[in-house]
Amino acid sequence: MRRTTKIAVIGAGLGGMTVAGLLQRRGFRVKVYEQAAAFSRIGAGIHLSSNVMLVMRHLGIEKALSDIALHPDAFVSRQWDTGEVLFELPFDPASEARYGAAYINVHRGDLHSVLESALEHGTVAFGKKLSHIDDSGPAIRLFFEDDGEAEADLVIGADGLNSKVRDHLLGPEKPRYTGHIAHRAIFPATRLNGLPIRACTKWWGPGNHILVYYMTQAREEVYIVTSAPQPEWTSNAAFVPCGREELTATFDGYHVELRQVVNAATDITKWPIFDREPVDRWSDDRIVLLGDACHPMRPYMAAGAAMAIEDAGILARCIAEVGSNDAGESFAWYQANRKARVREVQQISMVNTWLRTPIDPEWFFRYDACAVPLKPPDPAAR
Ligand SMILES: Cc1cc2nc3c(=O)[nH]c(=O)nc-3n(C[C@H](O)[C@H](O)[C@H](O)COP(=O)(O)OP(=O)(O)OC[C@H]3O[C@@H](n4cnc5c(N)ncnc54)[C@H](O)[C@@H]3O)c2cc1C
Repeated sequence: MRRTTKIAVIGAGLGGMTVAGLLQRRGFRVKVYEQAAAFSRIGAGIHLSSNVMLVMRHLGIEKALSDIALHPDAFVSRQWDTGEVLFELPFDPASEARYGAAYINVHRGDLHSVLESALEHGTVAFGKKLSHIDDSGPAIRLFFEDDGEAEADLVIGADGLNSKVRDHLLGPEKPRYTGHIAHRAIFPATRLNGLPIRACTKWWGPGNHILVYYMTQAREEVYIVTSAPQPEWTSNAAFVPCGREELTATFDGYHVELRQVVNAATDITKWPIFDREPVDRWSDDRIVLLGDACHPMRPYMAAGAAMAIEDAGILARCIAEVGSNDAGESFAWYQANRKARVREVQQISMVNTWLRTPIDPEWFFRYDACAVPLKPPDPAAR
C-alpha cells in the first residue's frame, strides 16, 4: 500500500492504539478518532501473556511496560472450597525463553499511557464519536456526533463491542448478553492486613470464578475480577456500582483465604459480559474490523485484548506488505491469517477451561503476530 494512503482508526482502545502505532512505524499517515473526551484510568487491571508482549516489542514499548508491571511468578489455579492447587504454571527465565517474552499484570490505565507514548504526537482526536460513514465516493467520509467530519482512504473499525463501523459493514445487530456479569475492584493491599497472597490466582467455583492479582511491582494494589451468573442485564451503562454484600454472598462457601480477600474489597463495580457469534465477513475493500468490533469473546481466557493486539500486528503487516495498492487484497490476507486462531480462542473462552488443569500453553503464548510467516488467502474463499 502507498505510504500516502490516509488511514483512519475508529476507537483508541488497546487494538486501535496498537495498529495505529505499528502503521506509523511503517511510514503510514494514521489518525485515531476516539469518542471519549480524554483517557481515563478506569478501575481495572489486565494480564498480558507473552504473545502480547512480543507485539509490544515491535512497537518499542516492551521494556517500558515491563518496568511498570508486576511479573507474577506463576499463574495458579485453585479449587474454590478446599484451596487445593489444581495447576501452577511457573513464569521464570526458563518460561520467558520458551515463550519468547514475559507474562505481566498491569493497570489498564498504565498500559494505555505506555501505548500512547508509542504514537506520534497528536495522533488521537478525542471527543470524536463516530455516528455514520459514507463510502459512496472516492474518499470515505466519516461523520461524528459533534457535527465534525473527516475523510480517509481506509478505515479500521477498532471501536469495540458496540462498533458503529461493524454496523455499517454488517448491519446493526446487538451483542449477546451471556447471562454472566463480572465484578471488578481495585483496592489497597494494606486492606489485606498482611494476608499473604500469590501474585496471580484464579479460584474455580461451581458456575462462578474469581481472579486475584497484584497490578504493580510495589504490590500496593490488589485487583479482583469475577464471573457470576445473573439472568438479566437491563442497564445501558458499561458498568454499575455493586455493594460488598452482593460480592461476599456470591463467594460465600469459598476457601477462607479467598473470603478474606473479598471482604477487603472496596469500590466494587459490576460489568455485563457480552459476546457475539463468529462472522465470516471482517472487511470490504476499504473498511476492516479488528478486536472486539469484530469478534468479542467471553473474558475467561483473558485473551480479548490479546486478540485485538494480535489482529493489529497482522493487519499492519498485511497493509504494509501485501496488496500493492489494493486494500481488499491486504484485508483478505489479514483474515486468512487470523480467523482460525481467533475462533479457537473464542471457543476456549466460551468453555472456560484455560489453565484450569495442566496444559502446555506454548501454542498461544509463543505466537508473534509481527513475525509469524504470513500465508496467502485461499482463492476460493474470496
Ligand atoms: C471483565 C473483563 C476482563 C477482561 N480481562 C482481560 C484480560 O485480562 N486480558 C485480555 O487480553 N482481555 C481481557 N478482557 C477483554 C478486553 O478488555 C477486550 O477484549 C479489549 O479491550 C478489546 O479491545 P478493543 O481495542 O477491540 O476494544 P476496546 O478496548 O473496547 O476499545 C474500543 C474503543 O473505541 C471507542 N469507541 C467506541 N465507539 C466509538 C465511536 N462510535 N466512535 C469513536 N470511538 C468509539 C471506545 O471509547 C474505546 O476507546 C476482559 C474483558 C472483560 C469484560
